[in-house]
Amino acid sequence: MFDLQIERIAAWVNDRGYASVAIQLPEGLRPQATGIIDSLSGKTRANFIIIGDPCYGACDTFVRFKDVAEALVHFGHSAIPSMGVSEDVLYIEAFYNEDISDKVVAVADRLPQRVGLLATVQYVGCIGCAKAALESTGRTVLVGMGDRRTAYRGQVLGCNCSAAEAVADSVDAFLFLGEGDFHPLAAAFGVKKPILILNPISGELRDVNDVHDRMLRRRFAAIERARDAKSFIVAVSSKPGQKREAAAAMIVHEIEASGRSAYVVYLAELSPQNLVSYRADAIVCTACPRIAMDDASCYDRPFLTITEAEVAIGIRKWEDYSFDAIRPE
Ligand code: SF4
Repeated sequence: MFDLQIERIAAWVNDRGYASVAIQLPEGLRPQATGIIDSLSGKTRANFIIIGDPCYGACDTFVRFKDVAEALVHFGHSAIPSMGVSEDVLYIEAFYNEDISDKVVAVADRLPQRVGLLATVQYVGCIGCAKAALESTGRTVLVGMGDRRTAYRGQVLGCNCSAAEAVADSVDAFLFLGEGDFHPLAAAFGVKKPILILNPISGELRDVNDVHDRMLRRRFAAIERARDAKSFIVAVSSKPGQKREAAAAMIVHEIEASGRSAYVVYLAELSPQNLVSYRADAIVCTACPRIAMDDASCYDRPFLTITEAEVAIGIRKWEDYSFDAIRPE
């Protein structure tokens, strides 16, 4: 169902003559790691090593793979083109390869006339048949190309919905192909259009509005609690696709210009354990914006994105709240 492309990986390893290959997988694919190695070991002469650190996206690509192996196979995400890609790294997206036309047609009467299609990377391969299915019902269907943080037309990351922004003015709503709320929420925060989620496996259709509104209320509460903060930790990630040093320098400058103190903490993993010891009234996350938005309840003080911090210190109005998307530098 989700194509791990074992034959393609084996051919890549053999053609290039790699003797050692590291593999990196997100949590959801880790149960398959040993089976993947068993399969590849039967088709190549390479040794395989599992990278055990957490991996949440291509932003987490283990760029130091040469410390342990000649090449890296990164599963579950597409490359982030703006990060640059080593020729010794192979991304295996684990595409879902079933025809979902019937499921799309079954929900078409709940969609407006002009529809934008979006998907997580696993389902970008389904966009073509979903588009044809919707067009067969007389609808106009647009699929936007995002910026260089995304690799495929219609693809949305949890930190980047530029594919939706590209066509938002020309559609009445978006149909998002995927599971869960994480990626659709990026689109819901990034564009002011209804977002309907179609689970390509179950065929269930639901909207993301309630989840979005609940999260927005929580973000408002966090900003309000940070308004009296006199000091801020500005957390900067060392991960290659989350390191936003220029944005961090900008928010440090803005915090200090507002008469408050800012202290930069540079680290790989933003977590309550790694930040709890530092004395400050609030924390600004300049890494993955979803750490602040989705995990704030785990922290002992207000934990804000960059744009939320701007509201808290009074240089941006709440009415101008915007998603702290990561853009290509
Ligand atoms: S920065 Fe966050 S949302 Fe963006 S790709 Fe990485 S883990 Fe996903």
